[in-house]
Amino acid sequence: MEIGVMFWAGRHEMAGIRSLGVECGQLGIRGGIALTPAFVEQWRSALDGFRLATVVCAFEGESYADIPTVKQTVGFIPQSTRAAREARTREVSDFAAQLGVGGIACHIGFVPDDRSDGDYIAVRDTVRRICDHAAANGQTFALETGQEPADVLLRFLDDTGRGNLKINFDPANMILYGTGDPIEALEMLAPHVVSVHAKDGDWPPRSSTGALGRERRLGEGAVGIGRFVETLKRIGYAGTVNIEREGADRDQWTQDVRAAAALLRRLAG
Ligand code: MG
Repeated sequence: MEIGVMFWAGRHEMAGIRSLGVECGQLGIRGGIALTPAFVEQWRSALDGFRLATVVCAFEGESYADIPTVKQTVGFIPQSTRAAREARTREVSDFAAQLGVGGIACHIGFVPDDRSDGDYIAVRDTVRRICDHAAANGQTFALETGQEPADVLLRFLDDTGRGNLKINFDPANMILYGTGDPIEALEMLAPHVVSVHAKDGDWPPRSSTGALGRERRLGEGAVGIGRFVETLKRIGYAGTVNIEREGADRDQWTQDVRAAAALLRRLAG
């Protein structure tokens, strides 16, 4: 089980990432970053043998403040930005292809339950077109988990009907959004999981109307990282385990990721 790290262009430098003692991971590209030939070259030389499993695409205008805000702003659900975000995802796919990366991923937003809902149909069709674009680049397209229960995601995968549509499984998100037990979800989604995040968090407060749970340092939240690693072994997961830490400033981030890597090495060993 190889340990990697999820990091962001413009926020992290490769020297800092290498100092964590990892040799692989996932690169996040926020909206607004111009994907010019010079940017491609900059990353090609910075990576220098560091292996990227995935380029993760985030969009301008997204906010994770609370669940209603996520519903309104994230992924392909907001109609006013849907076409622009689809175009951006294709660009990110092309950027990843130029770096020889075999997968892209993003949060597509809250998929409606009702399959006859206009937004459901539009998002499904958007995802189909992105999958076809990614397939032409030899890539998978992975949906980040969290916003839907596992059975809704499975139905969406089936309905979309694209062989390269996969799952980036984030156990903490299942808890932060109050979606369901992450271990049960991982077992259900196992055949479709192409990459995972190692992230931790607590459930939303019981009385909450729309608040997200709180992200925690790996091992300190409700995921149960030990059982998460055990389950990855049991399902025969062969990809990298990418440490993700969101709510921390730069120094804290480095410290927390380093501690998370040590914890995962102990558990995986
Ligand atoms: Mg994640």
